[in-house]
Amino acid sequence: MTKEKNNEKKVHFHLSMSGKWTLLTSLFVLISVIVFSTITYKKSIDTLIEVERKNINETLKDVSSRLKISNNELSIRNTAYYLSNDNNTLGSDPTERTLEANLIRLNSFISELSQPELSVSVYNSEQSLVFETRNTRHAYFGSDKQEVSQKIVDGKTGFLATEPIYSKQKGQKIGYVQLFYDLSQIDSVKENLITLMLWLSLFSIIISLLFGFILSNYFMRPLKKITDVINEIKADPQTEARMPVEEMKDEFADLGIIFNDMMDRMQRFIEQQQQFVGDVSHELRTPVAVIEGHLKLLDRWGKDDPEILEESLSASLQEISRMKSLVQEMLDLSRAGQIDLHHKNDVSNAKEVIHQVYNNFVMLYPDFKFVLDDDIIQEKQVRIYRNHLEQILIIILDNAVKYSLNRKEILLSISTSHEYLQIAIQDYGEGISEADLEQVFNRFYRVDKARSRHKGGNGLGLSIAKQLVETYEGDIVVESILEKGSVFRISLPLAKEE
Ligand code: ADP
Repeated sequence: MTKEKNNEKKVHFHLSMSGKWTLLTSLFVLISVIVFSTITYKKSIDTLIEVERKNINETLKDVSSRLKISNNELSIRNTAYYLSNDNNTLGSDPTERTLEANLIRLNSFISELSQPELSVSVYNSEQSLVFETRNTRHAYFGSDKQEVSQKIVDGKTGFLATEPIYSKQKGQKIGYVQLFYDLSQIDSVKENLITLMLWLSLFSIIISLLFGFILSNYFMRPLKKITDVINEIKADPQTEARMPVEEMKDEFADLGIIFNDMMDRMQRFIEQQQQFVGDVSHELRTPVAVIEGHLKLLDRWGKDDPEILEESLSASLQEISRMKSLVQEMLDLSRAGQIDLHHKNDVSNAKEVIHQVYNNFVMLYPDFKFVLDDDIIQEKQVRIYRNHLEQILIIILDNAVKYSLNRKEILLSISTSHEYLQIAIQDYGEGISEADLEQVFNRFYRVDKARSRHKGGNGLGLSIAKQLVETYEGDIVVESILEKGSVFRISLPLAKEE
């Protein structure tokens, strides 16, 4: 019981199409933003660090090339002098000038060195500190080679650049220089970037959720309409409700057109079926009533009267044979609609089949004059199953015989044109009025019910013929003048010659 309930819940819980769409696009946008941001972040930080590394290298080169000019051991006095010398043109010996004078000249270069992140320390050859731009009191961390590396000093990450200084002229070691560039300001850049990216992600997810929701709803609207129409049809199969194709100008409109067309056909089919069942029961009612009448007659007082017995039996048998032919024709009619499955690719020899049917009729009706006008020189293959071509010819020729009056003459002509076999069957009989012409191909339609029944007609022959011809992608039409005669024209596609 509980399991069933759970299942039911599961079935009912589902995310709508637009929900899925919104979530998926948002997820996609979020992932894109994260990937893009991470790459941008990494690249910018790397570039920043690279720029700082270049800067410190250059500053180190600059400082060391200035200090190298000194011939003596580095001291506060000569360090200040050489660092302050802009053009490398030496004036008086630094030792001869006052420290104050040197410090004033130092200003211009030192101001370059005085960025808050940079500290420059100069040591003498014993590695004791003689000059520094910041009050750090760092020892010399380097070796006897020039080095630039990332290090943590006093808990701060940065670039440490160290180099021993050799006098340019004398070549002896006169001291050391050490530069430390604090990279912690990059940390704040990092922090800023991360905050910015978080906001960007949040913003993009809100925007994509919003747009995803609006867009998916917009695109899903036609689907909702389709569902509504289907629901209406479910409630009432004969409803007139259709997809509003004029409102949609995209692929949904194509779907709508196909859907509407399908609905039209389905409803027509249902109507035809209902009509057919109605017609059949109506057609069967008469022979059943006739047989019932005769049997009642016999039951009451005909049993002993050989004349009534004879007459009733023969009338009943006649009705039964009519019912039999009616059932057979109905079967033929329903089969004629299913050719697609069985004989779709069949072909038959046009001349051979037509000549054979013609000969049979000549033999069957010796009082009739049949004329065959054959314009086909060489045998042609027509795209139809042989038995079906025979059946069509027999139906039309039978009618021509049935509805002929005094002039018992039937003209059968065959020819080919535009890849079609053309058959015309002409009689000089009672003809069909203009009003009836349109209806003779309908099921159970008979111009004169009583007369046709008398001649054994059920009104199904022509509808079978039409159904067959159309299933083979052919065409059948009739022209007629009342009391002058009729001509039935059939065209059927020829098989493509190899
Ligand atoms: P039936 O079995 O009654 O002949 P059909 O479907 O073959 O049924 O024909 C329908 C009706 O069309 C017939 O009842 C008849 O009135 C009319 N019809 C058919 N063929 C001819 C014809 N050659 N001349 C005159 N009327 C015709």
